[in-house]
Amino acid sequence: MDDARFAGRLLEVIESEIVPKTAAGVARGNKIFGAAILRKSDLSVVIAETNNETANPLWHGEIHAIKRFYELPEAERPTPKDCLFLATHEPCSLCLSGITWAGFDNFHYLFSHEDSRDAFAIPYDIQILKAVYAVPDRASGEVAADRPLYNRTNAYWTSRDLKQTIAGVTEPERAALFARVEAIVRRYGELSDAYQQDKGGRSIPLA
Ligand SMILES: [Zn+2]
Repeated sequence: MDDARFAGRLLEVIESEIVPKTAAGVARGNKIFGAAILRKSDLSVVIAETNNETANPLWHGEIHAIKRFYELPEAERPTPKDCLFLATHEPCSLCLSGITWAGFDNFHYLFSHEDSRDAFAIPYDIQILKAVYAVPDRASGEVAADRPLYNRTNAYWTSRDLKQTIAGVTEPERAALFARVEAIVRRYGELSDAYQQDKGGRSIPLA
């Protein structure tokens, strides 16, 4: 499968499998972050889930998907190494570790940590990496300005930014894919507004 079809399929999973679950989750007071686990062989969806922090603050979209994945009967569950992990937003420190401990060797994401902070008013991913894990502050000048907050390729997995994948696609497919991304951005903007307006009445610790 070429990159254009691959990226189109991941966008389709976000559009048709994750967003509807997230819209329902946001209506219950949860954040906008979702995830899906797909079979590498044919990119069919094994499980799609969304944030469920109103039930448990650890049920981030990714962790909730992993929880539901392991609740499937073993016969219906591919091995993690045969799966592609899709996160709508770049995973936080909890979810980076969850993906690692659960045995996945990859993840793909659409929105970056910076998008979560700047477009969706969720600054905790970057704040926790710096405050808890002592990731050096790039502004201090002691580390390279482009040093990432985690190893995007390491002994456990390789991560890919879906927008970078799309950027590598040739035209006219690239423009069509980015147009779909823009529509997804608008939809997440609506969901984020709904979450931010409603969050005061909920008991999520890091709302
Ligand atoms: Zn997370």
